Amino acid sequence: MVWHWNCASSLCFNSWRTKGVHYYHLPIKNLELQHEYAKILKNEKVNWKKQVICSAHWTGGNRLSKDHIPDIICSEEQMKKIKKISELRPKDNDMKKKLMCAQRIITQQDHIGKKRKAPKCRSQVQAKKRKRRKSKHELEVQNDKLKKQCDAFKLENEHLNSKVSEVQNEVKRLHKEINALQENLQTEKSVFNSKLKRMKYELNKRTFTYNSLIENGKEFFELCGLTINEFDCVYECLEPFTHLLAYPDCQQDKKKNFNNRLLDEKTELMVTLTIARHNVDLVIMAKQVGASSSTMSRVFVAWMALIRCVFDSIDLKPLPGFVEAFLPKKFVDAGYAECGILGDNTETWVSQFENYDINNLTFSHYKNHTTGKVSVWIYPHGALCKCSEAYPGTISDEQITEQINVLDLCPKGKIVMTDKGFAITDLCHEKGLHHNRPPMKFKHQYDENEVSLNFDIATLRIHNENAIGRIRDWSILNACWPAGRVDLLGTCWIALAHIVNLTKEPSGPKD
Ligand SMILES: [Zn+2]
Repeated sequence: MVWHWNCASSLCFNSWRTKGVHYYHLPIKNLELQHEYAKILKNEKVNWKKQVICSAHWTGGNRLSKDHIPDIICSEEQMKKIKKISELRPKDNDMKKKLMCAQRIITQQDHIGKKRKAPKCRSQVQAKKRKRRKSKHELEVQNDKLKKQCDAFKLENEHLNSKVSEVQNEVKRLHKEINALQENLQTEKSVFNSKLKRMKYELNKRTFTYNSLIENGKEFFELCGLTINEFDCVYECLEPFTHLLAYPDCQQDKKKNFNNRLLDEKTELMVTLTIARHNVDLVIMAKQVGASSSTMSRVFVAWMALIRCVFDSIDLKPLPGFVEAFLPKKFVDAGYAECGILGDNTETWVSQFENYDINNLTFSHYKNHTTGKVSVWIYPHGALCKCSEAYPGTISDEQITEQINVLDLCPKGKIVMTDKGFAITDLCHEKGLHHNRPPMKFKHQYDENEVSLNFDIATLRIHNENAIGRIRDWSILNACWPAGRVDLLGTCWIALAHIVNLTKEPSGPKD
């Protein structure tokens, strides 16, 4: 079959019959080139493999290379041909459209050609250069704009910089202020701390508790009459029995709830001893520890009773040979090497009772007051032998000695030394003891022998007085005892006598 080819352009009538024209294959694979060709061909139904394009579509009349893109859509020659055909076929609308299209393209081409005056053969590089030149101009304009903007920004920058430096200065100033404030605060803090320390110290000084009082040993001693060591010793003796403390009329006691105690045990003992030492009014002591006076009363009674009970169960009877071993030389020198015990009675004022019978019973003619009488016995070296309960002031020395069974504590065959008022000679003999007391004054005068004897006994018996005096250092025993609590008098005497005996050195003569 002979192939009769036509140009693929819809506005071109060149075919194998047309002379002076040659044909090229269309690009098959390169889609970009196809796109460029399609702009020229104006044919929607191109068969890229089979159809061809004529050389009339290149300005130079030749395709120089495969990349050389056609630039003529429709020549004037072709337009005339279309015109001719459309005149021959006035009813052919398709041809009319083609004609209009061709005419428009030719006027456009002319217009562009005149305006551009482009060289016939213009490479793509040149086109690009032109494009750049144009953008360079634009860039210059833009550059000017940017320069102006830049200037504006510079101004703003300067402005902002000055602001920043201002703010920085402000920040520095504030830093300084803060530092100054911090320093101020530090100094204030240290001042407050020292004040607080001082206040704590002051508060501690005023607080009446064992833990704060042990800070000052001297004060501690002045308050309770015991050094801290002596106090601790007494407390440790009592500690195993503190669960037996019976606070009279205490509601907590009934509930068996000891956890609610206001004061710790040591402070309570301290309170008790201080009250006894200085005969402090319970109201004042209550104020001191921040409690009520009734609580103080309960504490005092409970502790005195405990001390008495615990210490009075100690057997003070000496082992055989003990008295001899510790007998002071003074006794031997005075001819009383066989002295066993020394006894004396002492009285504490008790306020008047409402009951006259009791008043009569307690009225001591010796003291000219209602009193409670206590008998205190010591061994020659000064240790306590016996401190009795309190008896009504009218009781005789003889009766009290018999009541308290003190002579049983004296080793057999020893001498019992007493004041001259003690009519216990018979009693001593019953117990197998000698009684030695200053001779009673039956005549006008003592003879020389009697004076000497008196003197010797007096110098030895002074130790008994000393022992009583030391117990009486607890002022409560020197005060006028309230008639309502006379039941406590003996308890206090016994308790304090034992504390003295336990903590203090014996009052006997020092060799
Ligand atoms: Zn053609």
